[in-house]
Amino acid sequence: MSEKPQAENFNQMTLELQGESLMLQFGNSIASAVSAAVSERQSAEQSLLIALSGDLGAGKTTISRGILNGLGHRGSVKSPTYTLVEPYELSLGRVCHFDFYRLIDPEELEYMGFRDYLVEASLCLIEWPEQGRGFLPDADIEIGIIQTDQGRTLSLKAGTDLGNKVILGL
Ligand code: ADP
Ligand code: MG
Repeated sequence: MSEKPQAENFNQMTLELQGESLMLQFGNSIASAVSAAVSERQSAEQSLLIALSGDLGAGKTTISRGILNGLGHRGSVKSPTYTLVEPYELSLGRVCHFDFYRLIDPEELEYMGFRDYLVEASLCLIEWPEQGRGFLPDADIEIGIIQTDQGRTLSLKAGTDLGNKVILGL
């Protein structure tokens, strides 16, 4: 029997969130589910990777803020548009918030030592993961955000067992 679960067993969910505060609240729920799943994990060779896709203004930074606040971060959450990464030291461990919007070539990430972030962080939140293609491993959870008239439609998809666990814990 293969170790890798079948793709069709992976959990998916779609939800509609109207307004910023619901987005922040959902980020908080993700934080709790991540904490629970990560604490149960036997070994932590790689960080849990959450890919956040959606147009400019979709709400990727907003949900990241909800997740970071839920993990105990107090204070502001800067958009890492220019720095590419903002690290946070939280009780979960290091949490890295990336934004690859301005990245020209994913190969640059290798030169800039970004591999270390992926290995050392407990959790990576990645805006514009498409821009890091080739460098980034498969995400544990992919979150797609689409603007609607009323708010935002979020689709969550697990890519790994750990991601599955998080989604089941929501
Ligand atoms: P991104 O990082 O995807 O470019 P931001 O997180 O900066 O987007 O969000 C852009 C705007 O969308 C913010 O003004 C935020 O208040 C708003 N917003 C976020 N989530 C929602 C939501 N669920 N419903 C309505 N507005 C939202
Ligand atoms: Mg953003």
